[in-house]
Amino acid sequence: MTRVSFFSPLEGEMAAKQPEGVGGGSALPQYASRSAAPTPPDQPAAGHPPLKGEGKRQRLYLFDTTLRDGQQTPGIDFSVEDKIAIARMLDEFGLDYVEGGYPGANPTDTAFFAEKRTQKAAFVAFGMTKRVGVSASNDPGLAVLLQSASDAICYVAKSWDYHVRVALGCTNEENLDAIQASVEAARAAGKEAMVDCEHFFDGFKANPDYALSCARAAHDAGARWVVLCDTNGGTQPAEVRAIVEKVIASGIPGENLGIHAHDDTGQAVANSLAAVEAGVRQIQGTLNGIGERCGNANLITLIPTLMLKPAYADRFETGISREQLAGLTRLSRNFDELLNRAPDAQAPYVGASAFATKAGIHASALAKEPETYEHVPPETVGNRRRIMVSDQGGKANFIAELRRRGIEVARDDSRLDALIRLVKEREAEGYAYEGADASFELLARRMLGEVPVFFKVESFRCMVERRYDARGSVKTVSEAIVKVTVDGQEIMSVAEGHGPVNALDIALRKDLGQYQAEIADLELVDYKVRILNGGTEAVTRVLIESHDGKGGRWSTVGVSDNIIDASFQALMDSIVFKLMKNREMAGLVAAE
Ligand SMILES: [Zn+2]
Repeated sequence: MTRVSFFSPLEGEMAAKQPEGVGGGSALPQYASRSAAPTPPDQPAAGHPPLKGEGKRQRLYLFDTTLRDGQQTPGIDFSVEDKIAIARMLDEFGLDYVEGGYPGANPTDTAFFAEKRTQKAAFVAFGMTKRVGVSASNDPGLAVLLQSASDAICYVAKSWDYHVRVALGCTNEENLDAIQASVEAARAAGKEAMVDCEHFFDGFKANPDYALSCARAAHDAGARWVVLCDTNGGTQPAEVRAIVEKVIASGIPGENLGIHAHDDTGQAVANSLAAVEAGVRQIQGTLNGIGERCGNANLITLIPTLMLKPAYADRFETGISREQLAGLTRLSRNFDELLNRAPDAQAPYVGASAFATKAGIHASALAKEPETYEHVPPETVGNRRRIMVSDQGGKANFIAELRRRGIEVARDDSRLDALIRLVKEREAEGYAYEGADASFELLARRMLGEVPVFFKVESFRCMVERRYDARGSVKTVSEAIVKVTVDGQEIMSVAEGHGPVNALDIALRKDLGQYQAEIADLELVDYKVRILNGGTEAVTRVLIESHDGKGGRWSTVGVSDNIIDASFQALMDSIVFKLMKNREMAGLVAAE
């Protein structure tokens, strides 16, 4: 089994060596502030985009639909709290538009739209155009959209005559009227209006005149953006380019056009870029490409491509600064954390393997001249260079990684070889030290004999009882008993909790004798379980994040075929790390 380690001794050192302007676009201007909703250009400019050095770079607007289209992903269901947290992440990262959902369609989205949830980004509500047969002012669905705390409304409209007939059951003209009246209603309510033309590319292939009429109805009514949607994701880049060019030639300026691509043929990013090259100036997508079926265009891939690749960076600018771009990897991984799913190691730009190299010839050359092996410097997107630890090249990395934590060990020290062997064995068993810096540090310090035995857990027992109470309703009770020895004295603690792990945690921390006061400010802030190979007999990995009153934050890991045992290991590491940290015996890196 080959494993990529998280050791990256080169960072910092390499950052200073990066030549100016690698990847182009290094002179991106910063955007100090923007009004809530990006304002439409007074005069849509015609003609070709400027060539390099010719005039100002054109602005591309980034539209995130993680909270709306991303919500369609199988297995994903955001709570209001999730949505608030994600909207904040997107807003801070510098997206122009955050589409929050469909107010009126479900209680979560209605509650989410009770307040504006963004500071800088325009907050967008999604919904249908008005129903045929009622006026805009008498449509209750439209009223909910207009009354929501949004800056903008993105309507979804049919643009394929076949869908108008089959799905809406109205005439082509009635559909055009609905688009026009809905856009006008949004503008009258003081909101920016945009229209997602559903199945636009298929509609255009079937009946170009009608598809164009729908786009034009939206544009002529004053929609800021007419968004061309490849709703089923089957269109190819060359087709997207050709059709966008025809739409622009028909008189709708690219400055008012957007692209919404799905990934059913793995081309959502390519299709978005093709549309930009043909003239559109708004791109819709989601974090990590989540979305219905195969997902939407992945903004985490698109953003660095637009900002770092000269083909785009020389011609366009986004609302995201270079500093914000350096938070891209964190954004992507925080989002995966929130979804409780493993980040894709091979994700472009942000994956753990995106800048990984096997040690050997490449690794030593990479250390000298990274730009010969890397298409962009990993620091620009907040990622790290990684070199596998499986041989000699790895040993130097290991030493440097330990040094970062204030641990000195000689290259020929046999304990170092033993530590490397142990880390590799444990990674093969399922330990993930990348997400558990404190457990890695304890492992290294134990190997070097630096971790005192503060206390010893002699035994623990967890019990879960599920029974019917006197009223006949189901009751589940969890209880844990822990026996510890501190200073030669045996202490037994019993606790009840919400589930066996919680009971064990409370019992373990109930009485640690002389150390009790020291862990009073220790708090578990996150607890994550990942099943490594399916089924109830699978190996379980538990990751625990802890913090203390001094602002320290650290993560620990446990692996076992028993979830309680895996949790126990991670809990123990967390407590021991805290005691080490209190004595300034640990924590240079892990508790940063
Ligand atoms: Zn979609």
